Amino acid sequence: MEQNRLYYQYPYVKKFTCTVTDCRETPKGTWAVRLDQTAFYPEGGGQPSDRGMLGDVSVLSVHERGGEVEHEVDRPIAPGTQTEGILDWQYRLDNMQQHTGEHILSGLVHRYFGYDNVGFHMGAEEVTVDFNGLLTEKDLERLENEANALVYENVKVRVWYPGEEELKALDYRSKKELTGLVRIVEIPGGDICACCGTHVERTGEVGIIKIRGMIHYKGGVRVSMLCGRRALADYRQRLNDEAELSVLLSAKLAKVPEAVKKLKEESQKQEALAGSLYRQIFSLKAAQYPKADSPLAVFEEGLSPVQLRQFATLLYEEGKGAVVGVFSPDGNGGFQYALGSSRFDMRSLSRAMNQKLNGRGGGSALMAQGTFRAGREEIEALFAGEACNYPNS
Ligand SMILES: [Zn+2]
Repeated sequence: MEQNRLYYQYPYVKKFTCTVTDCRETPKGTWAVRLDQTAFYPEGGGQPSDRGMLGDVSVLSVHERGGEVEHEVDRPIAPGTQTEGILDWQYRLDNMQQHTGEHILSGLVHRYFGYDNVGFHMGAEEVTVDFNGLLTEKDLERLENEANALVYENVKVRVWYPGEEELKALDYRSKKELTGLVRIVEIPGGDICACCGTHVERTGEVGIIKIRGMIHYKGGVRVSMLCGRRALADYRQRLNDEAELSVLLSAKLAKVPEAVKKLKEESQKQEALAGSLYRQIFSLKAAQYPKADSPLAVFEEGLSPVQLRQFATLLYEEGKGAVVGVFSPDGNGGFQYALGSSRFDMRSLSRAMNQKLNGRGGGSALMAQGTFRAGREEIEALFAGEACNYPNS
């Protein structure tokens, strides 16, 4: 079965000649092509399928079906046609770097902590590995150092098929109980694992193994990592981001965190100042309204939800209305509202008004907030009629 899978004999085949043995239309309207031999890796073991060209036809994905490799292509190719397969090599090498890097890390985690790799995903953005046990940030740093030491050592990756007896005696990582011919991938000093994927020949080709983060996941951890060219691209992106931040903050690169801290403190001070100014403005405005036992509706431009609440609270606490409604345009043709009263139930009022003014929101008996999809006149008329209909029990 392995004879016609060139990627197993030598994972560096970038170009090969082949003959089409079968071609069928798929339900998706693409075509499934089988070949007498192939270097295209079918998706499996956490490694995505290869892509590339068969002659001038695009290979979109590659899957294993019924023990055969099927190439999904965008146009039919007649069986019997001799053609040339060309891999998207940068993509494949990238996948090999991630995959070998993952083995090194998983092998070390297994050796030092006894945890298993219970999930492996090579996504477009990042590579994630799930372990069934907890790790600390310090553990990760040590693992990352050791993993990269193995990269610097440039050890030869060994791939082989042990005989039945040898396999029995071998201590290797495996996701499932394996029978028959088992393919073993060994990174001397790092890992030994049953795997069907493609790997670099020497660990030095992995370039770098960089752990980017860790979250708690299903009782264990999910570690995200990048290797090789992808880690380089990530590093470049981060430096670019940092340079942009440094310009925006007018701070030297190394001083960016300090500048952000300062900016945050500054903005907290500004917020406090704005808050105190608004309180003064609200109390001056509130002084314009006489004490009253009727509902009071106030319309103000540009108030935030917090300010709406502040103003409404001040007005009803000072007795400027039995029920107070403060309204501010929401920028979409409607109004944000805050309804406040110590004598009437604002939950019931907001529910009734929401229903008639296509609104949403709610709150407590004392204060309700939300938005109405309605104009000022409509709101005023309904508020005047409804406001005192829901006494607090
Ligand atoms: Zn693997």
